[in-house]
Amino acid sequence: MADSTPADGTDLRTPIVAVLGHVDHGKTTLLDHVRGSAVTADEAGAITQHIGATHVPLDVISEMAGGLVDPTDFDLPGLLFIDTPGHHSFSTLRSRGGALADIAILVVDVTDGFQPQTEEAIDILARTETPFVVAANKVDAVGGWRSEPNAPIQGRLDAQTDRVRSDVEEGLYEIIGDLSDAGFTADFYWRVSDFKANVGVVPCSAETGEGMPDLLAVLMGLSQRYLREAMAVDTTGPAAGTVLEVTDQQGFGTTLDAVIYDGRIDAGDRIVVGAANAPIVTEVRALLKPRPLAEIRSDDAFETVDRVVAADGVKIAAPELDDAMAGAPIRVVGDRSVEAVTAEVREELQSVAVETADHGVVIKADTLGSLEALAGSLEEAEIPIVHAEVGDVAPRDVHVADTADEAEHRSILAFGVDVLDDSRQMAADRNIDLFEHDVIYRLIEEYEEYVESIQEAQQEQIMENITRPARFQILDDHTFRQSDPAVVGVEVRGGTLRRGESIVRWDGSEPTRVGHLKSIQDEGEDVDELRTGERAAVSIDGPTVGRQIEEGDTLWVEIPEKHAKVLDGELREELPADERETLSMYLDEHRSRDPFWGK
Ligand code: GDP
Repeated sequence: MADSTPADGTDLRTPIVAVLGHVDHGKTTLLDHVRGSAVTADEAGAITQHIGATHVPLDVISEMAGGLVDPTDFDLPGLLFIDTPGHHSFSTLRSRGGALADIAILVVDVTDGFQPQTEEAIDILARTETPFVVAANKVDAVGGWRSEPNAPIQGRLDAQTDRVRSDVEEGLYEIIGDLSDAGFTADFYWRVSDFKANVGVVPCSAETGEGMPDLLAVLMGLSQRYLREAMAVDTTGPAAGTVLEVTDQQGFGTTLDAVIYDGRIDAGDRIVVGAANAPIVTEVRALLKPRPLAEIRSDDAFETVDRVVAADGVKIAAPELDDAMAGAPIRVVGDRSVEAVTAEVREELQSVAVETADHGVVIKADTLGSLEALAGSLEEAEIPIVHAEVGDVAPRDVHVADTADEAEHRSILAFGVDVLDDSRQMAADRNIDLFEHDVIYRLIEEYEEYVESIQEAQQEQIMENITRPARFQILDDHTFRQSDPAVVGVEVRGGTLRRGESIVRWDGSEPTRVGHLKSIQDEGEDVDELRTGERAAVSIDGPTVGRQIEEGDTLWVEIPEKHAKVLDGELREELPADERETLSMYLDEHRSRDPFWGK
């Protein structure tokens, strides 16, 4: 509960802190360090283990931060750390259309630098306009580092040898450079005076605790300075919260793990919860909190409380919660009408900004927030979405994908969800491709690779079936037969001459069809095609040598206008240079008569 005194019915709530970063860069270790030190620092036991979040009161932060945080400078009650790190949970935890976390720690391994999930996290932070600090973690992993547990970082940097310090700084400057590439001006936190305009970088080690005092001091200072206004909430008003997780709890049935970020919730309150279909209207049967560590008995880890005030984590037991969704809003009705609150919940669910198109892929995700994050990344990759929904991949999704004509849209992208067995079989039967991953950028990468492979296959197919440009000359003294069919010796001047094509010649600006290329024979053997510079005997149905065609004539393969368009457009780069040149000459002939031919 907030510590400050309510003067006018409002109170200052705890800022909510999220931890993001690439896998293995130290998010969990950092949270463990904060929680572990908080428990040690707080021997009286004011640290409350919360559902899904850990509340660290200001006096405990001050103690952990050594001399860096003077509690009299602050009136915010502390910090509430969300226990599940990673941008998946960050995206899941929304409030009123924005991010639930008020502030974030972006963890970057100083020895490993920016990685794909670092970039992804930055995109999400930028999109949600969430202020953040960078924890440049694992400074102790730099060779030769000398540690002093839990010490502020500047003194530790000074205590290293020149070589170690310069190795650490190299990593730090790389991170600052990468932040700049991502559009953020950043610097060592002690050089930053305006944290709104600049990102502070805190060198640290979650393992040894070095720099942790600095990190807490920066978080606290930033919150006090820039978030204080937003932290003013009416703690007597009806609660607003977000579902973290829907879980089964023995003795209580389906329960909601939730973070309350506004107002208060009491046992017995009527609540509205966002769900897969219609919002659920129900009544709170019990509010549960973990028992303090010392009191936990294995069969009874929770105790019931009468009331929870923002910002806090709580487990809510109530009837009929089966359809509730992670990431969905929770509202206490209070003295408003159920209809108005239901409408508000419905509106918030709809505000999940997934834009769908007439054609595109089907996407499924485990929570609203992750659905939105996936949709955002797809939009950036210019991949259209036809249908987006929270939940496992079900037969209905396969039906939707099955209505698509383009091969690349016959796809379902599933993020962090299961594929129901019958859907998998159904998808296989109908040639629908399923992509499953629990890392967004990998999911998109796999899909893009697939699209590229089908585009290549399609292009090959088109190249097979399209009329290829060719011009060839009838050689002097090489008439083997005058007609029915005419058989003459030719040399290809440019392009690829293939059997079965229609042949034209240019008389002035008009193309005249002279016949049909029946066969190509090279030293008595039938061949399918002849390339530039090659000679062979060809038989042409239609003309008579000496009348429609003459020795020395240049003849062309007739290109239908539709084919010309494709050749001149999407296939131009695929054509060998001689074919491209021949195509241009052919187009020039046509366009001297009709400038828009084949366009
Ligand atoms: P997460 O995937 O981001 O949650 O990363 P973890 O917290 O699980 O850390 C990944 C690995 O890095 C673990 O083996 C940690 O012990 C190690 N690690 C995390 N922080 C530090 C640190 O500050 N220094 C060192 N040397 N190792 C660390």
